[in-house]
Amino acid sequence: MPTCQNCGEKWTWKQTIKTLFKLKCPHCHVKQYESASSRKQGAIFGLIPLILLPIIIGFEFTMSTTLIFAVVLVILIFALYPFILKLSNQQEPYW
Ligand SMILES: [Zn+2]
Repeated sequence: MPTCQNCGEKWTWKQTIKTLFKLKCPHCHVKQYESASSRKQGAIFGLIPLILLPIIIGFEFTMSTTLIFAVVLVILIFALYPFILKLSNQQEPYW
């Protein structure tokens, strides 16, 4: 789980999901940024659907099955994201 770099408080899974798009600390209300290393991991994470997509197409699932699969995958990625998220006080350069 991510730890606020400003106040040192650990965010719970629920708190992280709640502030996923703003990344504002629920304890000290200071804006946090995703660290560069965490962002790299996140990018690999985002590639999973792209890797899985040809496999799904290869199996020739019906449209509705593919859709359900995609929704489950998105939920899964969001659910796991707090575990890989690391915070930083400043916006770090991409590379
Ligand atoms: Zn904080």
